[in-house]
Amino acid sequence: MSTLEIRDLQVSVGSTQILNGITLTINSGEVHAVMGPNGAGKSTLSAAIMGKPGYEITGGSVTLDGQDVLAMPTWQRAVAGLHLVMQYPTEVPGVKLSEVLSEALTARHATLPNLNKTINEEAARISFDSELVNRAVNVDFSGGEKKRNEIMQMAILEPDVAVLDETDSGLDIDALRIVSEGVNAMRGPDTGFLVITHYQRLLEYIVPDRVHIMWDGRIVHSGGKELALELEEKGYDWVKQDLAKA
Ligand code: ADP
Ligand code: MG
Repeated sequence: MSTLEIRDLQVSVGSTQILNGITLTINSGEVHAVMGPNGAGKSTLSAAIMGKPGYEITGGSVTLDGQDVLAMPTWQRAVAGLHLVMQYPTEVPGVKLSEVLSEALTARHATLPNLNKTINEEAARISFDSELVNRAVNVDFSGGEKKRNEIMQMAILEPDVAVLDETDSGLDIDALRIVSEGVNAMRGPDTGFLVITHYQRLLEYIVPDRVHIMWDGRIVHSGGKELALELEEKGYDWVKQDLAKA
């Protein structure tokens, strides 16, 4: 079992503090959803977990099975078992997906006897055009294709904890279903998920064990999957009013 432990995490961008102390524990086998309005700091949380440049950690800790994640360069975080499914996947001209995956697997000391066969099988499972596998990563892919590509990479790399940042943005209902099925197929005792989303819709497909509401760089509510429904019903204004009362 793996545990990603985020303790009182504080993060600044430039001179502005964005995260004001986030505490979250994600065990493998669990799916945690973080919901919040635009600007709440959701992407900042994923950026800080993965070590994106420009995000300064001003307090708190992030550990994976006791290892200090914040002390590692990004590539080492991936080797340790963290994986980020990006909101806006990057285009990598001149580099094929099989090359990216082969390097990544080698770094994780994992071997796949027939990587190309695995890629083709995973691609078929999520209706990803296998022709695209042989093209440069994400170059001239549609939004939906980029997301499927990301999900496929995640499935092949088998991370201990996967962070999905607004994977639902820009997806039509069919692509959303396919992407969710890809995630659900990976659910099991070996993988934990941090699913970040603005909308409840994604959580109809990926049913979370825990739901956390982020507001102004803090987790202000945590609960079971019904919390997402409550939020959908009452809207983010409810959170605001609730906070004003407190
Ligand atoms: P969310 O993903 O919840 O919409 P973000 O984490 O993207 O929120 O942003 C939270 C706040 O931090 C916003 O006010 C945003 O403008 C600011 N912010 C995030 N990243 C940057 C950045 N790289 N440069 C400047 N401001 C940023
Ligand atoms: Mg975001």
